[in-house]
Amino acid sequence: MNSLRRLDIKYVKGIGPKRAELLAKELNIHTAYDLLHHFPTSYVDRTSIYTIREFEGDMPSVQVKGRFINFNVLGEGAKTRLVGIFTDGSATMEVVWFQGIKRIRESLHTSTEYILFGKPTTFNARWQMSHPEVDTLEKAATQIGLRGVYPLTEKLRDRNIGSRQLHDWICELLNSRPPFAESLPATVVEECKLMSLDKAIRELHKPSAPASLAKARERMKFEELFYIQTDMLMRSRDRKSVTEGFRFTSIGRYFNNFYSTCLPFPLTGAQKRVIKEIRIDTNTGRQMNRLVQGDVGSGKTLVALMSMLIAIDNGFQACLMAPTEILAGQHYETIRSLAAPIGVNVRLLTGSTRSRERQEIHEALASGELHILIGTHAILEDPVKFRNLGLAVIDEQHRFGVAQRARLWAKNTCPPHILVMTATPIPRTLAMTVYGDLDVSIIDELPPGRKPVTTLLRYDSKREEVYRAIGRQLAEGRQVYFVYPLIDENEKLDLRSLTEGYDLICETFSNYRVAFVHGRLKPAEKDYQMELFASGKAQILVATTVIEVGVNVPNATIMLIENAERFGLSQLHQLRGRVGRGANQSYCILMSKLKIAKETRERLELMTQTSDGFVIAEADMRMRGPGDIEGTMQSGIPFELHIANLATDGEIISQARHAAERMLDADPTLSQPTNRAFLIALKEAVSRSTDWSRIS
Ligand code: ADP
Ligand code: MG
Repeated sequence: MNSLRRLDIKYVKGIGPKRAELLAKELNIHTAYDLLHHFPTSYVDRTSIYTIREFEGDMPSVQVKGRFINFNVLGEGAKTRLVGIFTDGSATMEVVWFQGIKRIRESLHTSTEYILFGKPTTFNARWQMSHPEVDTLEKAATQIGLRGVYPLTEKLRDRNIGSRQLHDWICELLNSRPPFAESLPATVVEECKLMSLDKAIRELHKPSAPASLAKARERMKFEELFYIQTDMLMRSRDRKSVTEGFRFTSIGRYFNNFYSTCLPFPLTGAQKRVIKEIRIDTNTGRQMNRLVQGDVGSGKTLVALMSMLIAIDNGFQACLMAPTEILAGQHYETIRSLAAPIGVNVRLLTGSTRSRERQEIHEALASGELHILIGTHAILEDPVKFRNLGLAVIDEQHRFGVAQRARLWAKNTCPPHILVMTATPIPRTLAMTVYGDLDVSIIDELPPGRKPVTTLLRYDSKREEVYRAIGRQLAEGRQVYFVYPLIDENEKLDLRSLTEGYDLICETFSNYRVAFVHGRLKPAEKDYQMELFASGKAQILVATTVIEVGVNVPNATIMLIENAERFGLSQLHQLRGRVGRGANQSYCILMSKLKIAKETRERLELMTQTSDGFVIAEADMRMRGPGDIEGTMQSGIPFELHIANLATDGEIISQARHAAERMLDADPTLSQPTNRAFLIALKEAVSRSTDWSRIS
């Protein structure tokens, strides 16, 4: 199979250089290997032959067998069409072609029996097929059974390259090759009862029966996931046994001082446990790669800070990266105010840091005078050189891919310990893949005294009533968020509804000051507006989802979300986490149009019933399908997936994970003869996605 990676498709019979170029451009198919891995997304059944009399409305494509009675060219100019009258003995139908008329007319004869394959439609109360596939009986005999429908592009269709054409090329290739050698270790194939690679590839393109097609799909999904799992496991085992890490042997004056004099409240049990896990990790002499998963408001920042203090106590520097400037700024404020009293030097570096200040930061980093650097992606840039980076904390990791994590490693001679914090509760099987090379700590306890947020679903017709309730909260001195969606496709429209909403709110609550934040503002203005709200000078914040992550204003007790039907559940959950941070009862109000689809209503109702992030994430994935979640997740993994789906193939993921574990337990370096071929293939797959792979 690997040799096919080097076979240019232009040499596949029937393709040639021109079409090869087109396939490369349109479908990213360059080699014979790519072509064989361009799998059908669905199948049509060419087993049965129907009669025209059996046609029904809305049938899929079907086959009929018979003869043409006559052909006529009708219409003029752009409306010219070829119409053939076709009979199978049970009835007649019209067959219409709008393109390629001359060629088709010349190739068809009234004396020949054909099998037509197309979708029956009605036109003027008569059955019709347009542009069916037409085969002689001989040719049709080779088409019997299930046949793949391949993903295509408009451009390919224009050039007459259809699903059938691709299928023919693939069959040509399959027929010209000896059986493909097995790509997985024999023990794995056996233990997991997998179909052989050769059979699976052939079956996927030319299924013999639905059951074996299912086995073939499973096998290929397994294969993709098994590569990923093996790679992740080897990476993490490698790190544990080979990659040296800095040893944080002691806890010293910074940590102890902070703990005894500055800690604003007692740590929760979960916070203590996680800090302990981090202490142990960082004292093993191996590099730590740990994910801290904790729902919004569970107090991850404090865990990050205390871990950084351990690094400083051991003579190292630390950094914290956040996905947005606002969030980085907030972390900076929080951490500086907590840590400055004990003499910890903290600075903020983002894209909008002025060059003079930037220079100062670079110098302070190099001299070691700066203990903690907080910032955005700006930290990853080249001129940023630490004297001695020992720990890097990454907040909201799924927006930083593995690649970026790897770049941090290059910031010191030895890779720093990595602590990733996320509030995105992702289902376990997905975590296994996306965070497969990380150890996981979970903060499963909220700080005491938190009252669960009450979530309400309200339709637009109740707006006045909702506003009155908000007025009462404001009168009691509370603060309120109004959140609007701002999604690219409708950007103009959204911006209008946002500004209109802002005007209405200013008018309705004219006794209060209203801050206003959205993505179009300059950072300085954004900061100013946020500060108004955070300091309590403004009682109301009207914003887009820029406040989704991190913002912390305990006095805010209402989060009103406009057009809630347009948000995903996980996103609503994140937003909701902005309230319920203080001692007062908080509310999240989901405003929605009255007319929404049943599933949308169910989604929103689920939000009113549970505050468990994991339940919500599972439901989100189930209800919305993989698309969204997968998009963000996919960026975190090194291999392109052709057939497996991270969101829906959870079972195969765990199967692959366990198989990879068993294989590596028995042969950690994959050096046994039975595993050699697989190791070579794996290395090749990894090297193709090399950018990020092994940096340490
Ligand atoms: P997240 O996990 O969402 O990042 P934060 O770290 O922002 O949460 O913490 C949320 C709020 O809880 C902050 O106001 C923080 O000061 C507070 N907090 C954190 N730990 C505790 C604790 N042990 N007891 C009480 N409040 C805490
Ligand atoms: Mg946070």
